[in-house]
Amino acid sequence: MKDVFEFFAHEDDLPDLDVRGAAERLGEAIRCRTVNPADHSLADHGEFDRLHAHIRASYPHIMAAGTFEVLGCRALLITLPGSEPALRPCLFMSHQDVVPVVEGTEQDWTYPAFSGTIADGYIWGRGALDIKQQVFGCLEAAEYLLAHGRTFARTVYLAFGDDEETLNLGAKAIAETLRDRGVTLEFVLDEGGGKIESGAPYGAPEAALCAVELLEKGYADLELSAQSAGGHSSRPFGGTSLGRLSQAIARIVEAPFPVRLSPVMAGAFKALAPYVTEEPLRTLVRDVDANADAIARYCYGQRTLFPYVTTTIAPTVIRGGSEACNVMPQNMTAVVNFRIDQGGTVQEVFEHARAAVGDLDVSMRFLQANDPSHAARSDGYGYERLTRSMGRYFPGVVFVPSMTPGATDARQYEIVCDTCLRCSPFIGGAEEVERAVHGTNERIAVRAYAQGIRVLAHLMEHTAVRP
Ligand SMILES: [Zn+2]
Repeated sequence: MKDVFEFFAHEDDLPDLDVRGAAERLGEAIRCRTVNPADHSLADHGEFDRLHAHIRASYPHIMAAGTFEVLGCRALLITLPGSEPALRPCLFMSHQDVVPVVEGTEQDWTYPAFSGTIADGYIWGRGALDIKQQVFGCLEAAEYLLAHGRTFARTVYLAFGDDEETLNLGAKAIAETLRDRGVTLEFVLDEGGGKIESGAPYGAPEAALCAVELLEKGYADLELSAQSAGGHSSRPFGGTSLGRLSQAIARIVEAPFPVRLSPVMAGAFKALAPYVTEEPLRTLVRDVDANADAIARYCYGQRTLFPYVTTTIAPTVIRGGSEACNVMPQNMTAVVNFRIDQGGTVQEVFEHARAAVGDLDVSMRFLQANDPSHAARSDGYGYERLTRSMGRYFPGVVFVPSMTPGATDARQYEIVCDTCLRCSPFIGGAEEVERAVHGTNERIAVRAYAQGIRVLAHLMEHTAVRP
């Protein structure tokens, strides 16, 4: 792969963009420690309030033109009203919260994790990539346009949840507020993609890819419980809870879900087809629909592509084993995590697991579960405008309609939008992004930050100012 900056073009757009000032404002945002644990009562809400004050103070044109609302706990909705009520609004989103720094790794950071240091061409700190750069990048883009006398015909919402990493209640509160106000959206743009990667796993080694994620896989944590009386391990008549639980886990893992090419992934291979040069895919993608099963089976055998063609099964937690080698365990639980493919449901996962476990005396319940999101439209206005703006600033990159095995806030907006796109314009190299998101030395190149702002300004200009 070429260096990521070799894909950048039109860096002379917005010639008077105050890049240094923008970087400093992002650094200040990183200094707000907006960690929001699953138990929200443990969050320091003052850090979110500090972030809000920073936004109010830093973007005077947005504050003058728009309304600023705090919804739910600390979610933020900024409305920049358009002059044409017939045009459906668009919504630019991401999230204010960040994951904590793993205890014991604080010293491994080149610059402290919440310092927001600008050095060596980068802005450093937790949230630089996930995803305060998109919160502040949206604000910078809108502020730039307003400061240059642009007026919006289409209403623009800037929407920033406060708990994407845990419960998604903030995004839910915003989406429900919009629904209650009778709003439907033309498109939503959220985080996702955010990196340029080699097409090699798809048999297209010469191609550089960027995903536009249309769909989030479903998610389920299935808890398994087994009981036994315990006692001396010399008399294990009937077996132990640990033995039974292990058997149940093994049976679930050995009963894989169907392997198939979902409509979203069929679309991905159709978009990639002109670039695929390696067999067996080169032949198969000539007719994706006719060869869907063969393509899916091929993907299933590849580390990178495997999660895209099936519901995955990952046993993750086991609790309650005996502390002593000669004492039998009593109550034990385990958790198996599933990521549900397009077309699957939570209900189906439960039935599948129950059938696999069969007659074993093991009980089951979901700790947390949600179906896959809907698939966003990739044939309409939002997708076309997004890929046009991205293509201007990253020419030569192939934009691929795809899906994410992870989960984010965007699906909350499906109640008001059929085009929820997950594609961050703040682009890094694939390896660096994968290492640093939720990891040590999270950072974003100042150049990548400025380029993302240009993409967003271009997209707002060509959707809201000049629809
Ligand atoms: Zn995120």
